[in-house]
Amino acid sequence: MAKDGLFPDINRRDFMKTCVTVSAMLGLPFGMVSKVAASARASDSRPAVIWLHFQECTGCSESLLRSTHPTLSNLILDMISLDYHETLMAGSGHQAEQALHDSMLANKGKYILVVEGAIPTKDNGIYCKVSGKTAMDSLQKAAEGALAIIAMGTCASYGGIQSVGPNPTGAVGVRDLVKDKPIINIPGCPPNPYNFLSTVLYFVTFKKLPELDQLGRPKFAYGRKIHEHCERRAHFDAGRFAKAYGDEGHSQGYCLYKLGCKGPATYANCSVVRFNDANVWPVSVGHPCIGCTEPELLFKTAIADKVQIHEPTPFDSYAPVDLKDKGKGPDPLTTGVIGLAAGAAVGAGVMMARKLPDGPEKGADHDKTE
Ligand code: SF4
Repeated sequence: MAKDGLFPDINRRDFMKTCVTVSAMLGLPFGMVSKVAASARASDSRPAVIWLHFQECTGCSESLLRSTHPTLSNLILDMISLDYHETLMAGSGHQAEQALHDSMLANKGKYILVVEGAIPTKDNGIYCKVSGKTAMDSLQKAAEGALAIIAMGTCASYGGIQSVGPNPTGAVGVRDLVKDKPIINIPGCPPNPYNFLSTVLYFVTFKKLPELDQLGRPKFAYGRKIHEHCERRAHFDAGRFAKAYGDEGHSQGYCLYKLGCKGPATYANCSVVRFNDANVWPVSVGHPCIGCTEPELLFKTAIADKVQIHEPTPFDSYAPVDLKDKGKGPDPLTTGVIGLAAGAAVGAGVMMARKLPDGPEKGADHDKTE
């Protein structure tokens, strides 16, 4: 579709939808869509990317590759110059190592390093080796010439499940080892590919990295709690909770807080952007959020345990109660645009909370919290 032959597998309509979605996610004014699209099409702006795998399940790459509408993975892979990716590249052995070496040399100081997986540090890092080199050594060498590092997924961001006590391999995230490079954490198990795409597009459009929160996450994607946009939020506010899997409240789509949902303490955009091009996310199919973007929640709090709600936040469509907070995050209009654009891009609108009959129902639980 594009003049320069990029994106052969995606039509112009889907391409523009994706650019609108990304621009909305980034909180950019509508007029910036054309600049984002132009940057995505410009072949000379394709950043070289080296993608390393360490202690992980490859679910982050799978999440990216399994997105099919509108061929998001093709868009991403056409937008970047993916010079090295152990599970995607055709080469292997010495040929692959040569490709890695050549790319690091040719693009020194300019490439983006993507890391998937935690890095084991115990016993000099012997618990993860690729091509005879420990993950620690490979990371250190690749990081030296990188312009910036994207830690893709919760394992690379914080260590993930591998780092949970007793942490037999001494697994850590990238930020624990690399201190002299910009690091963007895109946590999630798996992370949403749109968050990766938006980060890359922001970089190629503005030649700088997006604003990050205190955990190194892009604020455009991790600036609000999922609880603020959840389609079950009306049930939470009305005190209607599922109390067991398969009970009447669960089958009615009630709030999953009492089943351990970590949504009230989890910063992410899952409830807006959703997954699998099918407009779903765990809570929409009946499973509580496990807090996979939060280093202090995932695998450290049992799935069934309830989180304490220290900072209650209103549902996104409620009028703001404290105007002094205005400007701290995306405003409701931006939130709405994100929802609409993301819905359009994945082929469906954002699900709305179910309308319920007035008054209590059989099986409803009217305690808000315990
Ligand atoms: S507690 Fe979980 S299921 Fe309930 S409204 Fe919040 S995010 Fe949704």
